[in-house]
Amino acid sequence: MTKITPQPGIMEIALYQGGAAHVEGVANVVKLSSNENPFGPSPAAIAAVRDSAAGLHRYPSTDHSGLRRAIGEVTGLDPERIICGVGSDEIISFLCQAYAGPGDEVLYTEHGFSMYRISALAVGATPVVVPEQDRVVDVDAILAAANPNTRLVFIANPANPTGTMIGAAEVARLAAGLPEETLLVLDGAYAEYVEGFDAGAALVGTRDNVFMTRTFSKIYGLGGLRVGWGYGPQEIIDVLNRVRGPFNLSNTALAAAEAAIRDQDYVEKCRAENARWRAWLAEALAECGVASDTSCANFILARFSDAAEADACDEHLKSQGLIVRKVAGYGLPQALRITIGDEDSCRRVAAAVRAFKGAAA
Ligand code: PMP
Repeated sequence: MTKITPQPGIMEIALYQGGAAHVEGVANVVKLSSNENPFGPSPAAIAAVRDSAAGLHRYPSTDHSGLRRAIGEVTGLDPERIICGVGSDEIISFLCQAYAGPGDEVLYTEHGFSMYRISALAVGATPVVVPEQDRVVDVDAILAAANPNTRLVFIANPANPTGTMIGAAEVARLAAGLPEETLLVLDGAYAEYVEGFDAGAALVGTRDNVFMTRTFSKIYGLGGLRVGWGYGPQEIIDVLNRVRGPFNLSNTALAAAEAAIRDQDYVEKCRAENARWRAWLAEALAECGVASDTSCANFILARFSDAAEADACDEHLKSQGLIVRKVAGYGLPQALRITIGDEDSCRRVAAAVRAFKGAAA
């Protein structure tokens, strides 16, 4: 038995489950479990990946100025107030490393994204889980739970795995009502799926206790390259850059992300296609008695009558080559999270759920 012991809190972190892309003995498998873009990245990003090969012997940019400039040009945000990370996961982790430690509280809501808890425990902070209201972030519950020991509040808007979101006025009310010592982090991983949504960027621009995170893993289709970014008050960006490793992003990742964000026509097409098939799938599921909340993201949280039915449907989908996500770990054992794939995948999911419900009836 080793005498080398981890820091307190580390063993409370559950090992990450998921990510499988194969089902033993089943052909034509489609992975709908990680909210990836079924169309992949923009062709411009793929070309940038190829071009980056010529410079692989060189260390990458340490300040990510090219990517930050591109983000600034496309979004209108100040590149000086942007930081890039290995997925938005890394930005979440930087925030916890820099602002939370033993005795501090990191707050998120009942069905909040798993990295908030992982990053809080990794730095010895105390994760605090606040109830939601019917799977929607409850601003009053957060305000009631926050106190001067609350260093960080994370909310994803739209949220994963529920797909629900709260409006700008509610977000502003939350920012205004938190203790002065608390940073509100608005996780905009799915923001691009909401037409015309700024993910709270305007609020970050006017307040010094609000921070926004974004990712290239979802609508930009670059999950495999791991690029995310954050936008916040200048002092906070300065702090986070001190914990960031100097070469955290590769040449290839930087080049691909820069090309991807400049191709907004492609983003628009993906957003429209997602909206179309999300509505179609929600209706198809409803027709066979499977309810879902209105999703603002690229997945649907399908609710079954109980955990046993959700598990049985998951098994049936798997047998048909459809890998979806069980979300019992998020406190939703009766639900399955289904990524919106392309038309063919959505039709396959609907047919499989219909057959499952028909067989069960
Ligand atoms: N936030 C939310 C709400 C997410 O669902 C995800 C990915 N599942 C992330 C952040 C992290 O994404 P990435 O690290 O790939 O940017």
